[in-house]
Amino acid sequence: MTRAAGKTKVLYIGGYSRSGSTLLLRLLGEQRGFAAVGELFDVWERSYIQDQLCGCGLGFRECDFWIQVTAGAFGCKPDEVPAEELNQIRSRVQGHGRIPALWLPRFRSPGHQRELSDYAALLERMYASVRNVTDSEVVVDSSKVPQYAWVLSEAEGIELHMVHLVRDSRATAFSWQRQRLRPEITTSRTYMDRHPVVRSALEWNAFNYLLRSRRNAYASYTLIKYEDLVADPNGELQRVIDALGGGIVSISQGNDEQVSLKPSHTAAGNPGRFETGEVTISLDSEWMHAMRGASRLIVTALTAPSLVRYHYPLLLRRAARTGTLAGSRQAPLTMRQSR
Ligand SMILES: [Zn+2]
Repeated sequence: MTRAAGKTKVLYIGGYSRSGSTLLLRLLGEQRGFAAVGELFDVWERSYIQDQLCGCGLGFRECDFWIQVTAGAFGCKPDEVPAEELNQIRSRVQGHGRIPALWLPRFRSPGHQRELSDYAALLERMYASVRNVTDSEVVVDSSKVPQYAWVLSEAEGIELHMVHLVRDSRATAFSWQRQRLRPEITTSRTYMDRHPVVRSALEWNAFNYLLRSRRNAYASYTLIKYEDLVADPNGELQRVIDALGGGIVSISQGNDEQVSLKPSHTAAGNPGRFETGEVTISLDSEWMHAMRGASRLIVTALTAPSLVRYHYPLLLRRAARTGTLAGSRQAPLTMRQSR
């Protein structure tokens, strides 16, 4: 296998939160030649400053993997990285107010463009270092948000491939209403944010539109649906891997529904990052019977054009399968498709 002209191949999982990105990340991370790093879009704040847990269970700054990656990228230890300063640059380059200018380059000021290019070059060093430390062909980032993909696509040394993951808008809205603990924060008992369904529906529209709108910024673009991934993991993974080109070959997991997960060094993301061992992949369709009728109606109405675009039924039949990505261990695993 060869690397394209020294560029680092980054496979970016884009999608609205609670769409199954952690499942896809973990499945890709088990493939030979793939290094799954989780979400790096906010790495200075969440990992270098707050020292949230790595997927291996250690604090980010104590994890040997990230110590090596940091040394390779910046020539120092994690606590010597000027993370506060880098976090401020991150805000200026890719904060919410910058989304229009990142989306349409002609809206960028010369100052923003300059800072964006410098910041992209700095990020490039991190991904190259991950590639070197893991000796992998592809670095998988599950940051999901469109604007960070556009920042990475500006780096000359990164070949950015987009896999756009879509899940039924009603399932994501239902998931945003669940209360879930964040195990990566150990200093206090912190729960994941919850959103009203109207907000989830509008954000779902915006994320999916923005992710598909700038396909020319990516080396490749592959659309996959969470529901198809769960129904045929090997087939869908193969489609994602084929889009990368370069003769990358995947290892079949054998049985589509069973997967064995090794510990991963993922920075930030869904609690499913911490799951290891044998797990069973199954569709999480709880929303189909547990979501309030009025909520379902509101989300369906607000997202109808895109539901049709992605071939989701507007009217629902009874769920054919129930359950989640649940392990064969006694306690139910929490590795669902939420972040
Ligand atoms: Zn680790």
